[in-house]
Amino acid sequence: VVVGPGDDCAVLDLGNARDSILFKTDAVVEGIHFTAETPPEKIGRKALARPLSDIAAMAGIPGAALVTIGLPKDYDLERVEGIYRGLNALAREYDVAIVGGETTTNPGGIFISVALLGKVASGKTLLRRGAQPGDAIFVTGTLGGSLYGKHLDFEPRIREAQWLAGRFHLHSLMDISDGLAGDLRHILKASGVGAELHASAIPISREAKLHARSSGNAKPPLAAALTDGEDFELLFTLPSSQAVPLLDAWKAHFPAIRLSCIGKIHQTPGLRIRDKSGIRTLNDHGYVHLS
Ligand SMILES: [Mg+2]
Repeated sequence: VVVGPGDDCAVLDLGNARDSILFKTDAVVEGIHFTAETPPEKIGRKALARPLSDIAAMAGIPGAALVTIGLPKDYDLERVEGIYRGLNALAREYDVAIVGGETTTNPGGIFISVALLGKVASGKTLLRRGAQPGDAIFVTGTLGGSLYGKHLDFEPRIREAQWLAGRFHLHSLMDISDGLAGDLRHILKASGVGAELHASAIPISREAKLHARSSGNAKPPLAAALTDGEDFELLFTLPSSQAVPLLDAWKAHFPAIRLSCIGKIHQTPGLRIRDKSGIRTLNDHGYVHLS
């Protein structure tokens, strides 16, 4: 065991000198990750996209998956076929072999559990624990409001992570599944550092902005971008001297995907955010309060 629990995937040395094995399992459950109204293809797609995002979070290459599905006794065969269609289409897109699994009964509704194997060149694994004071903090895509659509359609950042790891000296990398503030805190804790974010640099999604406008009790857009879950974007740090070359190269290579430098790693522990009114601290739940 090279890396056990606590990072995006387990990292294993199975005796092959060239590659380390990445191992991840993830489940989606009816009523929590999808509903009876969710199109079945999107359920199957999401079930595989989630662990794929964790392979991306280690800059790995996915390989093979086992799929376990739990079904109520009165399941709808067409719905189950739709789930597999969505899952298989994404598997083909990312060259993942579905090599087995299990079907079981679950009276409470449908669940799908995917165990995914991947690989990464030995010694090239990108973990959460490498962030260093002075690092620039980057995030791909836009954040917040995922529950209004993106959580069923997100693209796992496999290609982007491999491109990044191959060209730049990343110090830490993870995917954002529980919200930027909470997940960045994992990097800070694992690395023994703190961070300061720039509120104006945080890429807020269209959905988070639209929803804040249309619904009275929605979170303000910045809070949504900091705390909403299921963004499945990459969060990483690298020496700030590489920030400008990275932004230039990224724009040329991935013109359709936003890349934002959102702040800097500091020696002082804790997570802070700077806006027009000054610096605030972010508490354990990610919410902004005045300091
Ligand atoms: Mg993850």
